[in-house]
Amino acid sequence: MKLLVVEDEALLRHHLYSRLGEQGHVVDAVANAEDALYQADQYSHDLAVVDLGLPGMGGLDLIRQLRSQGKSFPILILTARGNWQDKVEGLAAGADDYVVKPFQFEELEARLNALLRRSSGFTQSRICAGPLLLDLNRKQATLDDQSLQLTAFEYRILEYLMRHHQQVVPKERLIEQLYPDDEERDPNVIEVLVGRLRRKLEADSGFKPIETVRGQGYLFTERCR
Ligand code: CA
Repeated sequence: MKLLVVEDEALLRHHLYSRLGEQGHVVDAVANAEDALYQADQYSHDLAVVDLGLPGMGGLDLIRQLRSQGKSFPILILTARGNWQDKVEGLAAGADDYVVKPFQFEELEARLNALLRRSSGFTQSRICAGPLLLDLNRKQATLDDQSLQLTAFEYRILEYLMRHHQQVVPKERLIEQLYPDDEERDPNVIEVLVGRLRRKLEADSGFKPIETVRGQGYLFTERCR
């Protein structure tokens, strides 16, 4: 998933960037609200983590602005202010959840995963489509109960397509799932990865859930639940 992290404290920002990256996310990490608005305008994010105390525009105003621009991805607040009024104010501004600093990374991760599952309509930590099963926590796929050997990039593409099943996903959206910046944005890479993914899915079972929609992108045709 592609995440936006807004945190002015450099050490924590770096920590979030690397820990969330290790969890398989592509992270845009910025230090202020202005940069966050720019990133949100340029790219499609699946979730944002927003610190409330920021220099310049504060986290609450940032959240209000993102929502007024129609951004509907889940937003999790990081706050050093732990009283209930601040939490209520944050939720009222359009946030979905909050974590009070200092926090355990495991708690943050669990909350992020829950938000990501809910936002794509899945309440379990797994997604099924016919013979295919994705374990979202372990980042593993099985097909007909056999473990499917996928590279990290293949897994990310498969998870993204399944989360957006029965919708056409543009190639550019998939590229954003793999690379944090504009560099290396070669649509051919996506074609190669999708090709490999298809071969692995089809190999033993003949399962063909990924369709190419000419000039538009890819469609995961099976219903996921
Ligand atoms: Ca701060």
